Amino acid sequence: MKKNILVSACLLGQSCRYDGKSKPCERVIALKDTYNLIPICPEVMGGLPTPRTPSEICGELVLMKDGRNVTENYNRGAQKALEIARENACPVAILKEKSPSCGSGLIHNGLFDGGLVEGDGITAKLLKSQGILVLGESEITEDFAL
Ligand code: SF4
Repeated sequence: MKKNILVSACLLGQSCRYDGKSKPCERVIALKDTYNLIPICPEVMGGLPTPRTPSEICGELVLMKDGRNVTENYNRGAQKALEIARENACPVAILKEKSPSCGSGLIHNGLFDGGLVEGDGITAKLLKSQGILVLGESEITEDFAL
């Protein structure tokens, strides 16, 4: 039986990004031959529309560029992602880098100027805290194996 992997839906070609586009990653998509890829978009699952105003983590809050507080949406989406990971016993999540939800290790700095800081997106952080290995798309090489 194929093992389950949680994957950011935008990496699989779903147009769920804030700008209404996707970010398909061929290396990640190719894993479907070996694994059962389970798409998630925490921002959409948290109740935000597509397209949407971009957001960044600003201290304890997640704020849209126009100042609207969307922290609850991000937290709700992260909880739903965790539920899906648990229901499907996913040991690994492959999540889009730099996103305020999915980013792992480096995220936008909260100033909306394109700068990055060390840190995790809201969903990546929650999944990691529950023992799920979170990888970014650039970490998926041809010899990736679970
Ligand atoms: Fe992609 Fe994650 Fe942003 Fe959804 S929340 S568009 S899956 S990076």
